[in-house]
Amino acid sequence: MSEEIYDITVIGGGPGGYHAALRASQFGAKVALIERDKLGGTCLNRGCIPTKALYSSAKLAEEIHEKAADFGISVGEVKLDFAKAVERKNKVVKELVEGIEALEKKAKVAIFKGHGKIVGGSIDSYEVEISGGDNAKIKTKRIIIATGSKPALIPAFNIDHDRILTSDDILSPDFKTVPNTLLIIGAGVIGCEFANIFRTFGAKVIMLEYLPTPIATEERLVINELKKKLVGMGIEIYVSQNVLKVENTGSGVRATCCSADVPRDQVDSAEKTTYDADICLVSIGRARVSDNLGLESVGIESDRGQIKCDPKTLETAAKGIYAIGDVTGGIMLAHVASYEGDVAVENALSSIGGFDTHPRETDYSIVPATIFTSPEIGSVGLREKVAKERGKVFVGRFAYASLGKAKCMGEEKGFLMVIGDVETDKILGASCIGHEAPELIAEIAAAMAAGMTCTQLGHVIHSHPTISEMVLEAVEDVHGMAIHKAGRKRR
Ligand SMILES: Cc1cc2nc3c(=O)[nH]c(=O)nc-3n(C[C@H](O)[C@H](O)[C@H](O)COP(=O)(O)OP(=O)(O)OC[C@H]3O[C@@H](n4cnc5c(N)ncnc54)[C@H](O)[C@@H]3O)c2cc1C
Repeated sequence: MSEEIYDITVIGGGPGGYHAALRASQFGAKVALIERDKLGGTCLNRGCIPTKALYSSAKLAEEIHEKAADFGISVGEVKLDFAKAVERKNKVVKELVEGIEALEKKAKVAIFKGHGKIVGGSIDSYEVEISGGDNAKIKTKRIIIATGSKPALIPAFNIDHDRILTSDDILSPDFKTVPNTLLIIGAGVIGCEFANIFRTFGAKVIMLEYLPTPIATEERLVINELKKKLVGMGIEIYVSQNVLKVENTGSGVRATCCSADVPRDQVDSAEKTTYDADICLVSIGRARVSDNLGLESVGIESDRGQIKCDPKTLETAAKGIYAIGDVTGGIMLAHVASYEGDVAVENALSSIGGFDTHPRETDYSIVPATIFTSPEIGSVGLREKVAKERGKVFVGRFAYASLGKAKCMGEEKGFLMVIGDVETDKILGASCIGHEAPELIAEIAAAMAAGMTCTQLGHVIHSHPTISEMVLEAVEDVHGMAIHKAGRKRR
């Protein structure tokens, strides 16, 4: 074992882990980062980035198809080449992964390739073993576990990685053929994003969802708008479907369902419906990854892979060992993993002492979320129903169709809604569906974090003509004061 002792060792190099390693190094810490696959984790290699690269191809195709002629551009016959789009996606992923590697090297983070396992120790010094790559044993004062998640393998769905696939399979660098018919189980965020991509590339898409609606956590009006669009594209969405099994028939796949309303003990005798397709994507859940991490050697508890930690400090039951990101079972988003990385790093270094850091506590009250369907969706804070249950609110709403810049761009579908507290005028939440919705929500999230009121945000000068004027009009509409909305009275 090397006599060198690291301040922090991070296990897992996804957006939680690679970010934490860089942050710790910025504070002057001596950092080790262990990754058994590729830096960037799920996000860069099998999640956020590859889906958004494919989405961008689909979006461009849609824009050419829907807008070009009207905009005075003649492009002739538009041919879609999915294999080419996948190659571009692979290049984007490769370049970003290489970028992260370069950043870590520049920051003098010691990168170890292989499986990291805690093999003992205490707050004075822990030992971590690396195997299956750089075989080594290192000493470290603090550890951050950022081992993430993977697609859940549901036995009844017979995931064979041949015709019955996970998101990892469908995003693999070699998946280059659009199926004639794609069956997607789960109409959550990931399911809807894939439906949008594959339908645009010409597949017939059938979606099965257990809940009575797709993307159930979003605002009702946003869901309705998205459903309208997806159905308009020809995507078949079947809700309240309890998928009982999926089988590879040799020439395709078959899913057997009954109504989700049927009680468990009556499923066998319930009426069944079957859905056939060429391939099936199962996108209904993620399993936390904490196998063979040596948790028991230091007394860290886990429940079905989910590592238990203090939700405020992110410290586990083992003093000086923290857990962040998907593996904690919290909000499974890349930016949340990175945020938790910051909190864990500051807490870890503060507990060592001698670094310019302060102990921090997590705050999840303002977490923006995005969905890259076309149109895009963004949301932050409370939904209207929940806000109304908690107190008196005003809701401001503004349509893209009434905005000059949106009209110029031919992006007239959708709206932004903002929920304001009647008593304090504080912004409680916002939801948006339409062009650059996630960017508009980012501005509102920043305003919420700064504690701004709707009136204060309405007083910020927004440059014209921009899509960001949607924010101005929607917060003004909270008080019935949107300039470009007819028939509203001050309230
Ligand atoms: C299809 C898809 C699309 C998504 N789109 C979005 C999106 O648009 N926006 C968003 O915010 N989120 C999105 N997500 C979620 C996002 O990818 C995750 O929330 C995020 O990657 C979690 O980061 P993490 O660092 O906790 O874990 P991960 O990214 O899963 O990284 C964990 C890393 O740890 C490594 N590892 C595990 N165990 C060990 C070990 N013992 N030793 C060494 N290395 C180990 C793994 O190889 C992996 O690289 C998407 C997810 C999927 C599947």
